[in-house]
Amino acid sequence: MRLTVVGSAGTFPGPESGCSSYLLEHEGYKLLLDMGNGSMGELQKYIDLREIDAVFVSHLHGDHCLDLVTYTYARRYHPGGGSGPLAVFGPAKLEARLCNSFDRPIPGGIDDVFAFHVVSDSEKIELGPFHLVPRLVSHPVECYGVRVEAGGRTLAYSADSGPIDSLIDLARDADVFLAEASYLEGDENPPGVHMTGKEAAEHATRASAQSLLLTHLVPWNPVDRVLADAESAYSGPIALATRGLQLDI
Ligand SMILES: [Zn+2]
Ligand SMILES: [Zn+2]
Repeated sequence: MRLTVVGSAGTFPGPESGCSSYLLEHEGYKLLLDMGNGSMGELQKYIDLREIDAVFVSHLHGDHCLDLVTYTYARRYHPGGGSGPLAVFGPAKLEARLCNSFDRPIPGGIDDVFAFHVVSDSEKIELGPFHLVPRLVSHPVECYGVRVEAGGRTLAYSADSGPIDSLIDLARDADVFLAEASYLEGDENPPGVHMTGKEAAEHATRASAQSLLLTHLVPWNPVDRVLADAESAYSGPIALATRGLQLDI
């Protein structure tokens, strides 16, 4: 499968990238993980907006789902014609959040654009050539990381999470562990929200992940320190998820 980092900024967009969004493609199927604010413009460098086959939304923080609001217009009013309801997988309140954005009734107010599927911990989801398993992770709101397998390869995405053992299951032997690394070691970081680079790396080590790709890079922290923190706890290959990075996994 091919991974394209559409956006990798955490919490709010930075000067170099919009917020979290990752395009996965395999056998022509196009799956988007998250659609944070500032990602929809960048996405158009890689695909026609109407070509998305499914979206997985990890949680309802704006830096992971806000561009679905404006994407509604692209889906409904695109001059090339509408493209029918898009399969969207996410937490139970996602449909209400989006309906509220348009003062539409809940449920069903935007059924012309989205077909909503509520996800649950450890369920198995089949989407074209992709097999997905969401896992609840540690965040102040209901939040799902997801393990994605296709063509015998595996990408594990932490979403937003503090340290938690479900991330070990999620990333077990994964070819790529796309892990958030928002905080810095040595700072006073609130528990149960995000990880440092070192914490992401410790999870990668415990999971025997084959490589570590650090993301959710918050604009106020220097990435060289995030990387150095990670290198102290993982001996495999580590990279930063920069906007536009493409990897064949
Ligand atoms: Zn976030
Ligand atoms: Zn969040």
